[in-house]
Amino acid sequence: MTTALTAFAVALATGRIRVIDLTHTLTPGFPTIVMPPELGQCAPFRMEEISRYDERGPAWYWNNFTMGEHTGTHFDAPIHWVTGKELPNNAVDTIPPEHFLAPACTIDCAAESAADADFVLTIPFVQAWEAKHGRIPSQSWVLLRTDWHKLPPRQYVNLSDDGPHSPGPAPDAVKFLVEERDVHGFGTETIGTDAGQAAHFTPPYPAHHYMHGRGRYGLQCLANLDQLPPTGTLLLTAPLKIRQGSGSPLRVLALVETKP
Ligand code: MN
Repeated sequence: MTTALTAFAVALATGRIRVIDLTHTLTPGFPTIVMPPELGQCAPFRMEEISRYDERGPAWYWNNFTMGEHTGTHFDAPIHWVTGKELPNNAVDTIPPEHFLAPACTIDCAAESAADADFVLTIPFVQAWEAKHGRIPSQSWVLLRTDWHKLPPRQYVNLSDDGPHSPGPAPDAVKFLVEERDVHGFGTETIGTDAGQAAHFTPPYPAHHYMHGRGRYGLQCLANLDQLPPTGTLLLTAPLKIRQGSGSPLRVLALVETKP
């Protein structure tokens, strides 16, 4: 008997479905978001060796590590933002596990982002994408491809005297994606789901404000979005089960179908 899951396993084994890793490697040098100095800061990744087949542990190698919930490739839960603080099941440990499997649409803004680090995704840009690739299905992730994952750390954060400069969505575009397209969440290759200059938007940080206020999720510091098709991707995004966690580093896997 062929079930959906055995057919899926066969498709994986035969290469009909390919797995693409959208995750950066966690290293002490990977940039974290920099907040104004009077505010609390997100810790970078740190690793301390416990033993490596030596007097501290003759037959085993292991490490302790520390980092912020929002360090490296990571997941944002609704409780991360004040607009989502009262929602049910809003933390990484209480989000229903079926929400960690969802389809994704990838909007290519790589050329626009290369030309302008402050590129902002607008409703007309989304509608032009839909005219080519079809309407964004309900409960899909929308991923913003910028090729930002290819940049070295300094350009990745792109900090100037007036703050960071990196692409992100316009307030009305986020509202449109949540209210008119019922998206599952929003994912970016940059250090946040919002544009570098989004502190000056109305409302400030609109991707966080609207997505989390409506119980939707965020993914940031994604890699390899250039390997994804515009539609037809299935994303696996299970964060660590931290009690009342606002987010978590995670391994993000994209499943895509190869041509038969
Ligand atoms: Mn975050």
